Amino acid sequence: MLDFERLQKYLDIPETARMMLSAPEKQVIMSVNIKVGAGKLLIYDSYLVYHNLVLGPAKGGIRFAPNVTLAETRTLAELMTYKCALMGIPFGGGKSSIALNPRSISEFEKRMLIREFVHMIRDELVSGAYIPAPDLGSTPSDMAIIYGETHHPESVTGKPPRLGGLPGRREATGRGVFTASRLACREILNLDVSKASVAIQGCGNVGSHSAAFLHESGARVVALSDVSGGLYSKAGLPVPAILDFVRQGKLLEEFPAEGLERITNQAILALPVDLLIPAAVEDVLTAETAPGVQAKLVVEAANGPTTPEGDQILARKKIPVISDIMANSGGVVASYVEWRNAKSGNQTSAQETYDFIDAKMEGAFKDVARRVREQKASWRDGAYLLALSELISAMRDRSWI
Ligand code: NAD
Repeated sequence: MLDFERLQKYLDIPETARMMLSAPEKQVIMSVNIKVGAGKLLIYDSYLVYHNLVLGPAKGGIRFAPNVTLAETRTLAELMTYKCALMGIPFGGGKSSIALNPRSISEFEKRMLIREFVHMIRDELVSGAYIPAPDLGSTPSDMAIIYGETHHPESVTGKPPRLGGLPGRREATGRGVFTASRLACREILNLDVSKASVAIQGCGNVGSHSAAFLHESGARVVALSDVSGGLYSKAGLPVPAILDFVRQGKLLEEFPAEGLERITNQAILALPVDLLIPAAVEDVLTAETAPGVQAKLVVEAANGPTTPEGDQILARKKIPVISDIMANSGGVVASYVEWRNAKSGNQTSAQETYDFIDAKMEGAFKDVARRVREQKASWRDGAYLLALSELISAMRDRSWI
């Protein structure tokens, strides 16, 4: 939960607003099951959380991860509240999850499971109260299954483009990570991003597209990893070849690494680079790993990659952190465009999506940079201050406080 005590010194946060933002509006615990043969039943724990809906309907991805819990889902929904507020998107914070390793079941079983999940939260989806999108472990095809069940294109975002999805949505979070990196390199390091060296942990949707945009810009991506481990080259990795390989569903441990070094996910965090981009899972920059960080700047592409203890250590080391609610907001900004298009019948190009993300992010970044300068807040606190100001104003607009 957000540390209101720390932020109170910069911003007057009414007690009523604190109370509302401290308690999620709705938490649902479900057990999704499917019969997959005679005497064989698959059962998975599943969660749906609405954190705060003052700005609009609950927006947030659906996570498929074996150990996901209600607490993790709640934390992710909370992040969405602040992320949407920061970017000026009229959505509230939501999240859903199924405690499942998607690689452990067949495509057919996964399809049945998602259909069952839709049946369980059908009212939320069809009424537009909750709008899911891909997150860790889920894909555009999974969103297509949800759409197939609801028949409402605006009920889910991150769909494949030919099914009402948005050109550029798949790349959108990575695009936003790139834009945040570009702005932060310029503002904080006085460095053009094309000259930056970068280490990226995670090579899924977010990590791979972040890597692609950074590589295209001329930045030197020296390390990339997935759950099986990573690859390193001081001179820069062959990013397109690695991404082609990963997109075939293969793990990096199988990549023919002649001329490259293998590196662990932990060692990636300690590389002497300009930009460190954790883009996989949460809680990787911790009391144990943060002391070893040598990067000049951390850009949080994943949600919650830095623990509070890790954050304090990075602050002591004077390593600025561009927080998740800023760095990975490109996904929800694009989701907003997709949702708006689904309602209006409008169509937009990938370039228009990128331009919209860039404009939203540049606007928020400028405002946060001003707070960092004028209020001597950290970059993380600066982002939360802007988001909180928006939320408090919206609560007043609604006479909630
Ligand atoms: P993904 O499933 O597409 O990819 C996850 C990547 O992390 C894969 O390369 C996987 O091999 C790797 N990984 C998994 N466990 C790991 C571990 N223990 N150590 C190192 N690597 C590991 O997921 P994604 O959609 O790219 O999401 C990544 C992060 O970004 C998550 O925190 C997610 O919440 C966040 N995020 C995603 C989006 C989006 O649009 N997909 C938007 C905002 C934030």
